[in-house]
Amino acid sequence: MIDRRPALIARCVGAADVISCVRFAREHDLPVSVRGGGHSIAGNAVCDDGLVIDLSRMKTIRVDPVRRLARADPGLLLGEFDRETQAFGLATTLGTLSITGIAGLTLGGGLGWLMGKHGLACDNLLSVDIVTADGRLLTASAEENPDLFWGVRGGSGNFGVVTSFEYQLHPLGPVLAGLVAYPIQQAPQVLRFFREYAATCPDELGLMSAMLTLPDGNTVVGVAACYSGDLETGERVLRPLRSLGSPVADLFQTMRYTDVQKMIDWWAVPEHHYWKSSFLREMDDTTLDIIADFALRKPSPGSGVGLEVIHGAVRRVPPDATAFAHRDSRYNFLMLGRWESRALAETGMSWVREFWSAMQPFLSTGVYVNYLSDNEGEDRVQGAYGSNYDRLLQLKAKYDPTNFFRINQNIRAIKVAA
Ligand SMILES: Cc1cc2nc3c(=O)[nH]c(=O)nc-3n(C[C@H](O)[C@H](O)[C@H](O)COP(=O)(O)OP(=O)(O)OC[C@H]3O[C@@H](n4cnc5c(N)ncnc54)[C@H](O)[C@@H]3O)c2cc1C
Repeated sequence: MIDRRPALIARCVGAADVISCVRFAREHDLPVSVRGGGHSIAGNAVCDDGLVIDLSRMKTIRVDPVRRLARADPGLLLGEFDRETQAFGLATTLGTLSITGIAGLTLGGGLGWLMGKHGLACDNLLSVDIVTADGRLLTASAEENPDLFWGVRGGSGNFGVVTSFEYQLHPLGPVLAGLVAYPIQQAPQVLRFFREYAATCPDELGLMSAMLTLPDGNTVVGVAACYSGDLETGERVLRPLRSLGSPVADLFQTMRYTDVQKMIDWWAVPEHHYWKSSFLREMDDTTLDIIADFALRKPSPGSGVGLEVIHGAVRRVPPDATAFAHRDSRYNFLMLGRWESRALAETGMSWVREFWSAMQPFLSTGVYVNYLSDNEGEDRVQGAYGSNYDRLLQLKAKYDPTNFFRINQNIRAIKVAA
């Protein structure tokens, strides 16, 4: 859906290049976009008539297995990061696909398979190196520039270009993971079960429901999960999910975490994506019936619906401890339009918009910043930063008073009274 023509793309290989880019863009008054993994649904990695600071060649990662730390460059994709940390039997929370970039994902929060046990990706961040709008390279951590460190953990790309991330890692062996799928006509019953099941979800279980068309052409209501604790316990925990009736597919098995991360990569093909998302306020029977109804008449095989469960360690962090505010929201809801050609865009977008409108009574005003699309409006952006918005405004005024970094889900700089 994104078609933009930058004036210049700078393929950076280190922090010095990024500093040069920021200074150059300031001197020439060029708009700037920042590309990490290039996975932004809003297309914010690329801009019209400006400078793209492209970090995709910056892929060094160094794992310290003794202190269980990883120092990672911003061009790494999740699969590249996990491959290196898993070589030492370690991992941290990132997302649920191997092809997303660690940079944008972490700066927006980072929802992933391991979040119930280890919190969001940003909760595992120990420090960043960041080039700010005045061209300085700062370190932000609990000790150095702690206000900036607060802001980069959920404030997205608003405060500068991160050139290095330091993460806390955790031991992780093979996990029990997969997907169980039932015919889409059973969505009302499966979703009701999912709601009860999710309410008792242990920390070790990463859990989501998806209504989608499998590569074999079957349209299903599925539950995907990753159990990252003792495997025998995992078998017991997953059993109720797998014995709801007669599944059309049960793909649960013990697997390497790096394979779990690739499990649904097939879905994310670079076609036309048009999404809307919010946290759910209600998950009563009426909500579930509307979801099931729209899922049944999705406009293309690529389109789908997702429900991610946010629980455990994520919710034990206070909402103002980092810039990611949505700790109390239990379900993240996604309407995922995807189609092959522009010709299908009108039908596809109508489905998303009608669905969105029917869901209004059940949605909170909050939205995960990394699931916002292009141009959704100021209210939605404020909803993404939620109760932390005012503090983020003050931080933006301190670190980026001219709103130099604005091609993002933008916190508009304001002058704050002293
Ligand atoms: C198919 C698909 C699946 C997804 N699955 C998940 C998931 O499981 N969990 C989840 O949490 N999210 C998920 N996302 C959302 C994902 O977190 C965002 O798309 C995120 O922006 C991806 O980061 P990126 O570096 O690849 O993006 P990019 O497009 O490169 O960057 C997006 C924005 O992030 C900022 N940014 C990127 N790098 C830097 C940097 N180094 N310094 C400062 N700012 C930077 C910029 O503002 C940029 O515009 C998914 C998205 C898609 C399309």
